Amino acid sequence: MAKSSVMGYPRIGENREWKKALEAFWAGKLEETELHQQLQQIRLQHLSKQQEKGIDYIPVNDFSYYDQVLDTAAMFGIIPKRFNYNGGAVPLSVYFGVARGTKEAAASEMTKWFNTNYHYIVPELYGAEPVLTENRPLAAYREAKEKLGIEGKPVILGPFSFLKLSKGYGRSEVDTWLSILLKLYVQVLQELVAEGVQWVQIDEPALVTKLSNDDVARLHTLYGKLAEAVPQLNLLLQTYFGSLEQYKEIVKLPVQGIGLDFVHGLRGNLSAVREYGFPADKVLGAGIIDGRGIWKAPLGEKLALLRELQGLVSSDKLLVQTSCSLLHVPVTTKPESKLPPELKNALAFADEKLDELVLLTEALNNGEASVAEELALNKHALETLEQSDVRNRADVHTAVARIQTQEPARKSPFAARNAAQQHKWQLPLFPTTTIGSFPQSTEVRKARQSWRKGEWNNEQYSSFIQAQIDSWISYQEEIGLDVLVHGEFERTDMVEFFGEKLEGFAFTQNGWVQSYGSRCVKPPVIFGDVAFKEAMTVEETVYAQSKTNRPVKGMLTGPITIMNWSFVRDDIEREQIAYQLAYALRQEVEALENAGIGMIQVDEPAVREGLPLKEEEQAHYLDWAVKAFRMTTCTVQDTTQIHTHMCYCEFHDMIDSIEAMDADVISIETSRSHGELIHSFEVNTYKHGIGLGVYDIHSPRVPDVEEMTTMIDRALQVLDPKLFWINPDCGLKTRGKEETIASLRNMVEATKVAREKH
Ligand code: GLN
Ligand code: ZN
Repeated sequence: MAKSSVMGYPRIGENREWKKALEAFWAGKLEETELHQQLQQIRLQHLSKQQEKGIDYIPVNDFSYYDQVLDTAAMFGIIPKRFNYNGGAVPLSVYFGVARGTKEAAASEMTKWFNTNYHYIVPELYGAEPVLTENRPLAAYREAKEKLGIEGKPVILGPFSFLKLSKGYGRSEVDTWLSILLKLYVQVLQELVAEGVQWVQIDEPALVTKLSNDDVARLHTLYGKLAEAVPQLNLLLQTYFGSLEQYKEIVKLPVQGIGLDFVHGLRGNLSAVREYGFPADKVLGAGIIDGRGIWKAPLGEKLALLRELQGLVSSDKLLVQTSCSLLHVPVTTKPESKLPPELKNALAFADEKLDELVLLTEALNNGEASVAEELALNKHALETLEQSDVRNRADVHTAVARIQTQEPARKSPFAARNAAQQHKWQLPLFPTTTIGSFPQSTEVRKARQSWRKGEWNNEQYSSFIQAQIDSWISYQEEIGLDVLVHGEFERTDMVEFFGEKLEGFAFTQNGWVQSYGSRCVKPPVIFGDVAFKEAMTVEETVYAQSKTNRPVKGMLTGPITIMNWSFVRDDIEREQIAYQLAYALRQEVEALENAGIGMIQVDEPAVREGLPLKEEEQAHYLDWAVKAFRMTTCTVQDTTQIHTHMCYCEFHDMIDSIEAMDADVISIETSRSHGELIHSFEVNTYKHGIGLGVYDIHSPRVPDVEEMTTMIDRALQVLDPKLFWINPDCGLKTRGKEETIASLRNMVEATKVAREKH
């Protein structure tokens, strides 16, 4: 008999109860005991839900108070010294301190979990003396058993991936660290065995990234020793987010089961099992339902794939799984009442994916006839969406096919454009500007809410926005900035704003997913062909421009960022979605230009997020991402200055692609990348206009003139002064008005100092 198995379930709860409890606790409105109670209730609800649906292997210890990597570090007492932790079970104050910072100590770094939009807390190994502080998987297992009679499957992040995700150790220390970790894992697993645990899921997502021969040897040693220490235990070595590097080696590891991703790693994993087979003594965890996408799976096709896989293993050795933890999808489609029916019917969030797992398992075990009706409904739902008009817009398909065949290039190369632009704008040396948004005060947010609720009519709202623009145009003039912005007061979110105005998008009411800690995002859904309807930003931009003689930059979000921060349809390639977006945004760029706006910024902060994990796939992605940006911006006159902006600091290995985007000016975050970025500009001469952020906008602190002068001087050792711009690191929307004005004043002062020196 095949079995259904879940790898991890969202923590946030149907109505984000988890987030609300945590934030109430942080705000001092909830006692610690109450917090524990509330979170336990949420956790148990999630377990009973899976039990009721009939999932065979239900995960425990997938729940967290913040993040599973932090949990693992805390379990091993790996807490940076600055938090004054003195051993024993890590108190909540320390746990949250590491995650969020305390008055005395800065938080640990947070970074992207592989290529997802989930962020984990990076363990700091430097100076750590790990010991097992508490057996978290064991506690979770006991809880499920005692409270619900569930024979849970503890989930634990594996030692190899844990080490890869940590920092604060040198290359030469890898083996030492692995043997330290090994002892701790042995202890955890032995206690689980003593408790009677049958199966443990040990997550090793790092196995889909590049592995050296040394890594492979290390894995053999590591898992060899684990197997020796706990021979009674069944270990399911779980991988996800791609196909196994070194399939042949990994399947030899002495574990009882291996979980493979047959969605995001379909090509590689399927050809590997076809070519080399799968060891007869092991269980295959077949990740066939997309754990990151929001669509119903084509169950007929999935069943065929499962049958093929079943042929490779004996039927009692097959687990029907999602491709990864369900952490990355919203909880349930149930409360969605405003979506077009053809869309809603084609969606499957976490709970609906549980149903799919159960259904497929049943079809495998009892024959298709047993679930014929469900299979037919599934097919019908997917076909209805596929055939709907929104997905079959001949106008979009024709236009995109046409522009795709043209090489998207500006009329002249950068040098000529730069001369023409300089002639037109007569900007001073080191022009100063900002990234786009100005403080979104409570007043601004309230106004938007009133308008959304219908309490304010369009005129009221737009005159409110105009008043904001008025004030900030005059602040900017007074501060002495050279290139102004309108301030983005009409936007809650840089993706949502455009999604609401373009065709092909839908917005869920409750489709939240965890991004980091208690922070959740509700990505728009690109479910149809994307199309431009009407100008989206012209009114505010032109209004702002009418209030000043200095140039006002138009402000758009780029195609790749819109795509990477949305849930996207999976019936066409992402590349095609990017081109559709590019074509739509190009029309906005043209509308702005026609309305007399001569500088247009197209933000692309999220380019890096779509970068494939596999190195060999990265170049292709970057190619089409760059192409989409160029498509968006290439039709303007030479004198129209195209700006772009990127943040989140990890761009140092992408400079060539950034240059290929061919923007006239890029503003880029620098302060948090500790000079790394400046260094990479040393090595890769960048020949377009560039503004390296001269101060970090993530804190309310007002940087002084000298500090920024230092930043500027440092950058000017590397960059051509004639191409250098001065700006903050990112948008100022989360800052207060006073600190923003003060900081910008200092920035303009620092610019004057720099101008005198050069
Ligand atoms: N223009 C946007 C802003 O200033 C850019 C935001 C971003 O880079 N994430 O808010
Ligand atoms: Zn930014």
